[in-house]
Amino acid sequence: MKYIPTIGLEIHAELSTKSKIFCDCPVGFGGEPNTRCCPVCTGMPGTLPVLNKTAVEYTVKAGLALNCQINEFSKLDRKNYFYPDLPKAYQISQFDLPVCKDGGLTINTPEGEKFIRIERIHLEEDAGKLLHDSYDNYSLADYNRCGVPLIEIVTKPDLSSSDEAREFVEKVRLMLLYSGISDCRMEEGSLRADVNVSIRPVGTDKLGTRTEMKNINSIRGIARCIDAEIERQSELLDEGEAITQETRRWDDNKGESKSMRSKEDAHDYRYFPEPDVVPISFTKQQIEALRHSLPELPNKRFAKYTADFGLSETDANLLLTSVSLSDFFESTAKECGNPKAASNFIIVEVLRRLNDSGLAAEAIPFGGNVLGRLLKMVDGEEITAANAKKVLADMFDTGMEPEAIVAGKGYKVINDTGEVENTVREILAANEKAVAEYLEGKEKTFGFLMGQCSRALAGRGNPKVVQDILRSELNRLKGSC
Ligand code: ADP
Ligand code: MG
Ligand code: ZN
Repeated sequence: MKYIPTIGLEIHAELSTKSKIFCDCPVGFGGEPNTRCCPVCTGMPGTLPVLNKTAVEYTVKAGLALNCQINEFSKLDRKNYFYPDLPKAYQISQFDLPVCKDGGLTINTPEGEKFIRIERIHLEEDAGKLLHDSYDNYSLADYNRCGVPLIEIVTKPDLSSSDEAREFVEKVRLMLLYSGISDCRMEEGSLRADVNVSIRPVGTDKLGTRTEMKNINSIRGIARCIDAEIERQSELLDEGEAITQETRRWDDNKGESKSMRSKEDAHDYRYFPEPDVVPISFTKQQIEALRHSLPELPNKRFAKYTADFGLSETDANLLLTSVSLSDFFESTAKECGNPKAASNFIIVEVLRRLNDSGLAAEAIPFGGNVLGRLLKMVDGEEITAANAKKVLADMFDTGMEPEAIVAGKGYKVINDTGEVENTVREILAANEKAVAEYLEGKEKTFGFLMGQCSRALAGRGNPKVVQDILRSELNRLKGSC
């Protein structure tokens, strides 16, 4: 490698408030174009915005989850630009006093842990969507997304590779998801990133000229666009050419970017304090109350799963991929008192079922505590592990309680040794030839006889007990020969 890459991200997340940031239009993906808007979010003259309190609180929660400081005083600013997706011709955003500043997250790299600094998180309104491809001579505008509350998380240029960027965005995504402030659906554009990339020759300190790729809406796209841009810039420097500071459009299908506009045509946004919205102020107590309202975040849960529960990092990460799955696991573990068994059963049996049926953890038709009761029965040797899987299948199909399924199907392990003894004796009587072979020293027939007994007990025999009784019955026969 002749060059050192530097990457900075601007991550946008749409907040999952019920209504938009300055009016009471509903927030939601899709919908018939222009059915979720009103004079306020379409910027009609004479209308006035009213700031959504929940949107501000969600921004604070995002900041707290991402280890930021919260400004007790912040304000909104008007960012002027004309583009038809923004009917007011200005966006209400934040300029010099964002809600959150100076945070960051630790990521794992092959060289060890690395702290990626977050410069700021500010609150703003989303713009509408333009559809350019449907007609030849004109474009269509859909203003449903106008005024959806949006936060922008700006990192310092601390990332050095596409892998680091991927890991960082995944971590940020999980933090926001667990904070409950955004659904972070990249495929629906509720989480998207602008990617800034520069390179500099090894042995130098001054950062190179950066380019920016806007609105990338998949983690894979972010990683691919970084790699492609590092390669493109390296080729230019190799040929002795300069990098121009510009905005480039990334085409994820082609896997390449094209220049959109250079810094020279950059807008002068003429920021000024938004006169129609009062500034935001918080007391320390209000900020602490919001901190306490956050659920346990994924980094804490990870530490608990690995250190306290003894799960592997891979298993812990798997269980943490969604809030529902992690909550489900925790209530299963709590109920059965055996986190390791709960983790194994969920990862092997429950996740397989979800994958096969293409369902998410939200769709599990019973609570984690109910699964916990099933696992407690296995732990207490009331049912066998094999039958537990059958019970699980029925729980998925019928939503019935495990106790009812076990009783109905007669899965309860027979702990009455008398019943097992009787069955074993019957089997031995019915298989004289096999018994004779065993007594002549053919140990293999033991397995055969064991199988016969298990079948006769319909899988309800505690295998250990059946084995012991079979062994002692055979020994008895041996003694009497
Ligand atoms: P703008 O508002 O024009 O996009 P900012 O100064 O806010 O500019 O920077 C935006 C992003 O670019 C930040 O994430 C920052 O870390 C990143 N960045 C700044 N300089 C560089 C650089 N030389 N190489 C890579 N990324 C950079
Ligand atoms: Mg930018
Ligand atoms: Zn509206």
